[in-house]
Amino acid sequence: MRLSDKALSISPSLTLDITAKANRMKKSGINVIGFGAGEPDFDTPDYIKEAAISAIREGYTKYTPTSGILELKEAIVQKLKRDNNLSYDVSQIVVSNGAKQAIFNTLCAILNQGDEVIIPSPYWLSYPEMVKLAGGIPVFIDTAESNNFKITAAQLEEAISDKTKAIIINSPNNPTGAVYNEDELKNIASLAVKYNIYVISDEIYEKLIYSGKHVSIASFNEGIKNLTIIINGMSKAYSMTGWRIGYSVSNPEIAKLINNIQSHTTSNPNTIAQYASVAALNQGDETIKAMVVEFKRRRDYMLQRINKIDGLKAITPDGAFYIIINISNFIGTEIYGTKINGSIDFANFLLEKAKVAVIPCLPFGNDNYIRVSYATSMSNIEEGFNRIENLLTNF
Ligand code: PLP
Repeated sequence: MRLSDKALSISPSLTLDITAKANRMKKSGINVIGFGAGEPDFDTPDYIKEAAISAIREGYTKYTPTSGILELKEAIVQKLKRDNNLSYDVSQIVVSNGAKQAIFNTLCAILNQGDEVIIPSPYWLSYPEMVKLAGGIPVFIDTAESNNFKITAAQLEEAISDKTKAIIINSPNNPTGAVYNEDELKNIASLAVKYNIYVISDEIYEKLIYSGKHVSIASFNEGIKNLTIIINGMSKAYSMTGWRIGYSVSNPEIAKLINNIQSHTTSNPNTIAQYASVAALNQGDETIKAMVVEFKRRRDYMLQRINKIDGLKAITPDGAFYIIINISNFIGTEIYGTKINGSIDFANFLLEKAKVAVIPCLPFGNDNYIRVSYATSMSNIEEGFNRIENLLTNF
């Protein structure tokens, strides 16, 4: 019987094979150094765990309103005022099962069949698949390393067609770590207003910035605020990836549709995690600041190691916890008898020969790169790059 065309159009995760292989190697006792992590290696802070334990003890273990408890939506409204200079009403917030669900809900709320969504490349690998599932067509803009992996206004204007419904801006970016500055965002905002297209602004890495500062594109004027759907969440800033709390912030009309979609698909996100998130947001950013200091230290060390290795190069990412490494020098070559046709071959080669797991960037839209994450200990970074350096300099 014919299965869903939509589901069949979704790419299987190309990173899954290599992750599974690394796990099999680890299980068989091989000491594999993993640079694949998409989550902070720090534990969730204790005060957040305590809030969850109290919520259970106090009996907050039942359904909540679909869009989340009022206390959490109020804490998010305050956060938006405090950090982003933005005023919203609680009715404009929908709390979801992670930022991922918030993005998918948003796409379902705004897209009609055949609508185009512009995605700067490299991109977080779930965006195009979610766009397709929601009936849309992803349209990619290739960013240049020489422009720090950011789109230009001219590129954006050229990509806009009469079918364009939205653009996804992810700053700080996964996988490139790129952070758009205020002027760059203002240019994008002007075009969005001029052509009346939505901006899905994925700000999940907002707190992880090492130079410059985060600006929300929604904050410039009422016109762009009305067109922007901000996506954010607890996962990366508070080391809460497993708690599954994210949210969307939008105009009331879109918020209502997102709420309807979520009410018929998953209902409210986990009640206990919602109470924990209130504590996280209301406590201040001290634990985040300590995490940022440590991430920056690791980023700087990793960059210096990468750029010392012949054939590899990486530019300095301003945010998130990833570095993408340009491996184009190796593509088309043979190393120790292994032909390197692209990032997947290169990642497999590092795994087999150096026992180091990295993420190939083909599924992120650019086969000339691999992604390494510094959400792992300094000693792992040292050991991993000793191995890579040995392998790539002695052949
Ligand atoms: N957006 C980006 C760019 C991400 O990298 C991720 C997770 O890796 C998410 C959203 C999803 O985050 P969450 O855990 O809140 O679903």
